[in-house]
Amino acid sequence: MAQDLIITKPIFHDKIWGGRRLESVFHYDIPAGKIGECWAISAHPHGDCLIEEGPYKGSTLSQLWDEHHELFGAAAGDRFPLLIKILDADGDLSIQVHPDDEYARVHEHGSLGKKECWYVLDCDPDATIIIGQKAKSREEFAKLVEAGDWGDLLNEVPIHKGDFFQINPGTLHAIKAGTLVLETQQSSDVTYRVYDYDRLGADGKPRELHLEQSTDCVDYQMKAPASGAVTNPEVDGVTLLNSNDRYTVERVRVSGEKTLPQDHDFMCVSVIEGVGSVSTACGTHDLPLGSHFVAPAQSGDLAFSGDMTLICSWV
Ligand code: ZN
Repeated sequence: MAQDLIITKPIFHDKIWGGRRLESVFHYDIPAGKIGECWAISAHPHGDCLIEEGPYKGSTLSQLWDEHHELFGAAAGDRFPLLIKILDADGDLSIQVHPDDEYARVHEHGSLGKKECWYVLDCDPDATIIIGQKAKSREEFAKLVEAGDWGDLLNEVPIHKGDFFQINPGTLHAIKAGTLVLETQQSSDVTYRVYDYDRLGADGKPRELHLEQSTDCVDYQMKAPASGAVTNPEVDGVTLLNSNDRYTVERVRVSGEKTLPQDHDFMCVSVIEGVGSVSTACGTHDLPLGSHFVAPAQSGDLAFSGDMTLICSWV
C-alpha cells in the first residue's frame, strides 16, 4: 500500500550565536530570542519532531521509527539515523570537533558520532568558515591551543552561497557570523569545544571547553580544503554533493515539472529556495520555502511542480 509523506514539525533552539533569519527568511513561527537552529527532521531526544499531518499526526519521528519501521524500509539501526537542520549564525559558533561512532559509543553513553555537511544557503559577502587545522600532531595542537595561536592553527576559507562542505569526525570547524546553512548530519548532539572566544553563556559563566576529548578526536593527517565550490556536474537538475558510509546528499533543481524516483529506504527532502508542490499516489502537498518532509519507503515517485531548489538525503 502506498504511504503518504511524513511531514515533520520543526523544533527551534535558542543559541548564543543565533539570530532572527529563521523568521525573516523562512517565515517560521519562532520563539523570542536568538534562535540559531531549526531542527527540521529529527528523532534525536534533544528535539524529537512531531508529525504534523496524516494517520501518524501527533506521534514523534522516533515513535514512527520504533513502531512503524516499515515506513523506513530496510534501514538498520536502533534510531532514525539522520538529523536535518537549518542554522542561522548571527555570531560566530565555537571552534569545535565531533567524535566518530566508536569514540562516541564509548565516551558518550552509546551516542552516534557526528559526520555532518553544510550547504551554504546564504552568507554575507565577506563571510568565512573554519574547516580543518594545521597542527600535525597532538603535541603541536595542544601547544597552539595553549598559546591561543588561532591564526597558526585554524584553516579559514571564504564562503559563497551554494558552497558545500563535508565535515568528517575529527575535522576542526566553525560556522562564522553572517551565514545561513542547511546541515545534514548523523543524529547526534555531541560537540567538543576547543575555543569559544571567551564568551559567557546564559548563566554568566564561560561555556565549557572539552580540550582532552578534542585532542583525542582531531584527525592530524587530514588535508584541509581550500574552497567549498561544488564541482560535480549537474545532470538533469540533480547534483551529487556527497556520498559516504553514513549518508548521500543531493541538490535538486525543479523548474516546472520534475519526477524523482523514491527507491531508497526513506528520503529526507528540504525546500531551500522557491515554492511548489509535490504529488504522490496519496495526494498533493504544497511546498512553501522552508518545508521539509520524509518520503517513506512506500511513497512511490515524487512528482514535483514549481520553481524550487531541494536538498535530498538518505542513508
Ligand atoms: Zn559541527
